[in-house]
Amino acid sequence: MDKEISKNFIEKIIDQDLKEGKYTKIATRFPPEPNGYLHIGHAKSILLNYGLTQEYNGIFNLRFDDTNPTKEKTEFVESIVADVEWLGAEYDGEVKFASNYFQDMYEGAIKLIKKGKAYVCDLSAEEIKEYRGTLTEPGKNSPYRDRTIEENLDLFERMKNGEFEDGSKVLRAKIDMSSPNINMRDPVIYRIARMTHHNTGDEWCIYPMYDYAHPIEDAVEGITHSICTLEFEDHRPLYDWVVQELEYEHPPKQIEFAKLYLTNVITGKRYIKRLVDQGIVDGWDDPRLVTIAALRRRGFTPESLKNFMELVGVAKSNSSVDYAMLEYCIRDDLKPKAPRMMAVLDPIKLVIDNYPEDQVEYLDAQVNMENPELGVKQVPFGRELWIEREDFMENPPKKYYRLFPGNEVRLMNAYFVKCVDFEKDENGNVTVVHCTYDPITKNGTGFTGRKVKGTIQWVPVKQAKKVTVRLYENLVDEEKGVYNEDGSVNLNPNSLTVLDNCYIEPSIEEYKPGDSFQFVRNGYFCIDTKDSTEGNPVFNRIVSLKSSFKLPKKQM
Ligand code: ATP
Ligand code: MG
Repeated sequence: MDKEISKNFIEKIIDQDLKEGKYTKIATRFPPEPNGYLHIGHAKSILLNYGLTQEYNGIFNLRFDDTNPTKEKTEFVESIVADVEWLGAEYDGEVKFASNYFQDMYEGAIKLIKKGKAYVCDLSAEEIKEYRGTLTEPGKNSPYRDRTIEENLDLFERMKNGEFEDGSKVLRAKIDMSSPNINMRDPVIYRIARMTHHNTGDEWCIYPMYDYAHPIEDAVEGITHSICTLEFEDHRPLYDWVVQELEYEHPPKQIEFAKLYLTNVITGKRYIKRLVDQGIVDGWDDPRLVTIAALRRRGFTPESLKNFMELVGVAKSNSSVDYAMLEYCIRDDLKPKAPRMMAVLDPIKLVIDNYPEDQVEYLDAQVNMENPELGVKQVPFGRELWIEREDFMENPPKKYYRLFPGNEVRLMNAYFVKCVDFEKDENGNVTVVHCTYDPITKNGTGFTGRKVKGTIQWVPVKQAKKVTVRLYENLVDEEKGVYNEDGSVNLNPNSLTVLDNCYIEPSIEEYKPGDSFQFVRNGYFCIDTKDSTEGNPVFNRIVSLKSSFKLPKKQM
């Protein structure tokens, strides 16, 4: 596809800016607030910002927006850094903190006061709200709006020195109380709050407001394109006002794009936090969540997320993307990479009556039929095997080609076997299937002239490894919608199924937590990094094998 045509609107803006010589090198940033774990929406923002700097040979910063001292937590800072690194977004230099620019922000405020563009206001929060007006009515000027520059400088310094009580005074930008944009009606830019900050301690008792702080953070770092989500569109005039009044030589510009939403999953830190706090999920990285930590633990790869974000594209209006598209991307990524494994999740025993009792032979099997480069492994074979319960039927329907009395099938990578008998327990459940094998059909090499329609997988009883497997469904009930009217989440009672009587090929012992596989029958699985112990892997199903999802035509 012609790259020029397929560029998104942000790339077009950057192209234009570079052409006009507005900037010579671009710089972007990802500015999380350290108040929770990152989710898939944040991954979109990270990969978008980082991707642009890759494309344009620019600089990408990771900066914590820690101007609000109440909520920050070191656990969140650490998890966010780990997530950004895992995604492969290489940030420039050290991790940055907005709180390191408190001095710049303070000096900026003084500059504004000296220009007659900011004033100290004694109205209470209530009164400020009243004076602000509404969407249909203009606001009223504060009675403190015309304080002299000298008086403002003096009061602001005393605010900083802790002479006034919390909430008794604020610093406001002097813009326009009748602006149609309420954000421009003399917004508060500094408040007094005696709160200990995780980075600056008790050094400051005045803290800047987000809309004032953010453009300064960007400008100080030399960010050129400050990419954020649509809810900030109405704040852009204020962003521009701040960088203009502070006279930065190369002022950054704000560009908004639509947030990523996925169907039937819970994004939004607030909601995820509630599930974690209420113990509905097992921590922020519960594999049923779409936090980046959970996706990683479930077995999603950075590549699959990157491809997903490319398919989704960058939009200017909000919409929801089908979760199945994300599943498509992880299947597509793992298909050629992941070793294939025979693994039986609901076992019954198959006995080959005419196979020598204590004989073991090692059969060749390709690690991944679609990727010969991964080589060949040996799988032990013997008289007793585990097979999947649903691969045998006493009274099969038409077109059932697997095992039933009298039928012959191929055991994957092994021999043809023919069902000669079966046993049941007192409840009528099949417990053992008896077969005979034909030695000349080994590995499909011997020519018999016979054809079989069914191939089934198996694992050898003697050498198989018993493991735990977890299957997942959506955390929410799709039919009923994600949220109830009262804001609670509609939980799906079947979101987690634990199977602890599963058998897998012994070659699994060569792998470690975090490794992924295709179980030839049941989908893609990953060895859980948290609950697996030495010699006892626990598997998470990443995704089943099939879906009805079709790749959409690439958006322009
Ligand atoms: P949430 O609403 O989920 O708590 P947030 O916007 O409060 O998210 P921040 O830490 O403030 O989280 O966001 C960091 C960056 O990630 C911001 O630039 C924000 O616009 C972006 N971001 C947040 N959610 C999404 C999303 N769903 N899609 C794309 N970008 C997002
Ligand atoms: Mg936020």
